Amino acid sequence: MKISAAALSPTKISGNIIRPDHPDYDRLRQVWNGSFDRYPALIIQARNTEDVRNAIRVAVAEAKPLAVRGGGHSIPGFSTCDGGIVLDLSLMNAVEVEPATRVVTVGGGALLGQIDAAGAPFGLATPAGVISHTGVGGLALGGGMGWLSRRFGMTIDSLLDATVVTATGDIVECSAETEPELFWGLRGGGGNFGVVTQFRFRMHDLGPVAMANWTYPLSAAATALRAYRDLARTAPRVVATSFSLSSASLSLTAFSSGNAARTADPIQPFGQLGPAAEGGVLGLSYCDFQCRNDAFVPWGRRYYSRGGFLHDLEDATIAEMVDAAAQAPTAESEIYVLQLGGAISDLPEEATAYSGRAAGYYWVANPIWDLTLDDAACLGWGRATARQLMARSMDTNYVNEQGDSGSDVAEKAYGATKYRRLSALKARFDSRNLFRLNQNILPDPAPSSPQRLSQPE
Ligand code: FAD
Repeated sequence: MKISAAALSPTKISGNIIRPDHPDYDRLRQVWNGSFDRYPALIIQARNTEDVRNAIRVAVAEAKPLAVRGGGHSIPGFSTCDGGIVLDLSLMNAVEVEPATRVVTVGGGALLGQIDAAGAPFGLATPAGVISHTGVGGLALGGGMGWLSRRFGMTIDSLLDATVVTATGDIVECSAETEPELFWGLRGGGGNFGVVTQFRFRMHDLGPVAMANWTYPLSAAATALRAYRDLARTAPRVVATSFSLSSASLSLTAFSSGNAARTADPIQPFGQLGPAAEGGVLGLSYCDFQCRNDAFVPWGRRYYSRGGFLHDLEDATIAEMVDAAAQAPTAESEIYVLQLGGAISDLPEEATAYSGRAAGYYWVANPIWDLTLDDAACLGWGRATARQLMARSMDTNYVNEQGDSGSDVAEKAYGATKYRRLSALKARFDSRNLFRLNQNILPDPAPSSPQRLSQPE
């Protein structure tokens, strides 16, 4: 379990080295999902790319599991481990916007809210997720979808380049020009190929924003959702919608940005889906809207998620969702659905490793609870609901929101052809599968010679 002092020369790491006897160990070993209460032998809080290299060297030399942590929001708890090394990137969280070129440079441990806040003074934004305390690292490497994705695409569609430290300790500057195959794989392949210490994303002119939220009792949800689906089919890409079904109600949110959002006209029709609606226009800034639901999913509660892609919302799917929501095990548990399409579908499926471009919607079953004694009921509801909805869903899936892990999760998510291509890339950059605490892509072919570690300059 212990990592020898010789293996870890403090002079080589400028960041913090946290051992179990450190006063901050208990705080720093936590991850967002309170279901994963693990005890790493060591937490290395890297301050720069050289620290990341050194942490990788220690993990290889000591043959320890290595958990890379960006924002710590992995639903299956991938960014912690028992007895291994957590490489915590949270100190590498600088975010800098160049308004003239509309480029944002983002440290590998930054959070989504930091990009929103940095872009706001210039009216610029990069599409990302809907909870501001999520990490950019994990979200972007899996794809990244949110309120701006129908207008500007997935987070990865705005990625210009990334700095990657590989399992051999090499630093690879990766873009479409310099390392096209790795760049393809990074955009959806998760943390399988190395540690990204820096991303550069294109930013977009956001323009005015408008948003509204309406609540319906669950008894009116199926009728309202059928009307919603008919409206959503013809919604312009500057409009994005989502809904959440709980055991009590349907909560439906519509968002619009750009010139059309000078008035609430593009979103108002979503408030006329039935007589029972309560709610209306919210009048928030984009940054405040992005933080609006942060408090509903705080660090430390117990969570599970499993989702899938739908081409469309069939009547039968709506009925199944409403029935399943009625049986949700806690008041906070939900089935969440985000409308996709628009700019996401402009790129062909093979353009990136991310594999959901043809989808019209993404759904996810999210039980939320606090006590271990409720694990069975909550996990049971999440898994059973997901199984039922999977039968109506597309074959591919989103690796970022699969609460279960196992050798087949990634294979199913990407489909056989892409998985083969990803496995070949994995063999090139991580033949010994050092980066395996993720939805793991197995290297193919298996390594024939021991892994080489490049020497520090
Ligand atoms: P971590 O736990 O730190 O990391 C997750 C995985 O990515 C781990 O395998 C880790 O090793 C790897 N990783 C992280 N950073 C790096 C890096 N810099 N280099 C290499 N590997 C790295 N997804 C969406 O697309 N849209 C949403 O709106 C959305 N909302 C969410 C809201 C919540 C509350 C949660 C918990 C998740 C949400 N997700 C969403 C899913 C989210 O994209 C994933 O959970 C993602 O993995 C979180 O990234 P992280 O950096 O916070 O997590």
